[in-house]
Amino acid sequence: MENRKGALGVLTSGGDASGMNAAIRAVVRAASADGIPCVGIRRGYSGLIAGDTVPLGPRDVDGLLHQGGTHLYTARCKEFMTEEGREKAAKTCERLHLTGVVAIGGDGTFRGLQALSRFGVSTIGIPGTIDNDIACTDYTIGFDTACNTAVEAIDKLRDTMQSHERCSIVEVMGRRAGYLALTVGIASGAIATLIPEVPVDFERDVTEPMRAAKASGRNHHIIIVAEGVGRSAELAEKVRESTGVDTRVTILGHIQRGGSPSARDRLLASEMGAYAVDLFEQGKSNRIVAIQGEVLHDLDIDEALAMKKTVENYSLWTARRVSS
Ligand code: ADP
Repeated sequence: MENRKGALGVLTSGGDASGMNAAIRAVVRAASADGIPCVGIRRGYSGLIAGDTVPLGPRDVDGLLHQGGTHLYTARCKEFMTEEGREKAAKTCERLHLTGVVAIGGDGTFRGLQALSRFGVSTIGIPGTIDNDIACTDYTIGFDTACNTAVEAIDKLRDTMQSHERCSIVEVMGRRAGYLALTVGIASGAIATLIPEVPVDFERDVTEPMRAAKASGRNHHIIIVAEGVGRSAELAEKVRESTGVDTRVTILGHIQRGGSPSARDRLLASEMGAYAVDLFEQGKSNRIVAIQGEVLHDLDIDEALAMKKTVENYSLWTARRVSS
């Protein structure tokens, strides 16, 4: 049967996140099942400009479901920020009969799709970032795995902090967003969680809860700090001076991005990938796949990018209420 829809390209862009491979697999499998040829585009928008592509069939994505990272590589591409760069990318689409592009990434990646859609290519975005900072969706692919990785590492740290009656300051990723820190803080029983969205009041947020915990007999503490709050070493010095507790800093860093995706991320990636193919088949463009309250839906990229995500008061309240 002749395929009148053209081919569907899939790429990963921006910061990588566990579960991106599961999303690639889902796009390829769902498209192939409906007779749509799939093309993998390597290194995000750079590959689209350079025409660095690889045909992908259902067997080419075998074994990807449980792998972290991205099989298609990811990149940040300055050239795509220019009109000339985007024209080159549109030419690649024309040459390869790519009538649609599914991109897995964050806000920046979606801005790229928005620009590409003006060339008549059907564009669909899937949210993939460990930061969970995309306003239109409750969860992004990779967030759950990153939370689990951090919590597992902190559980190990807690054992040694307890033995030595120390305080551990753990810096987690999140330059502008504190969702990862806040979730990890609650899930690891932190005494304090400091995030970029909320100005730090050292006495209220750190010293006071530590004193209260000490007074009731607890001699070890975990403090979670999002990367964007900065200066963990200085914070440790302040904690030492004000409480007298031996305090150590651990920066979890890039381990939070890698590893085999959790079951939840595999599920989310599989559902979102298949949903994206449905949108393409319906002839939709400039759409983002999102999940709200366990239900998948899609919305216009312009609308999605105009939305602002705020740290839910409820999580902040829970973090403070159960910390000591
Ligand atoms: P993320 O998708 O994780 O937010 P970036 O912000 O680095 O990551 O964006 C990924 C890529 O998307 C950029 O390197 C660039 O190629 C493209 N991009 C970002 N913003 C725009 C924009 N305003 N217009 C066109 N392309 C963009």
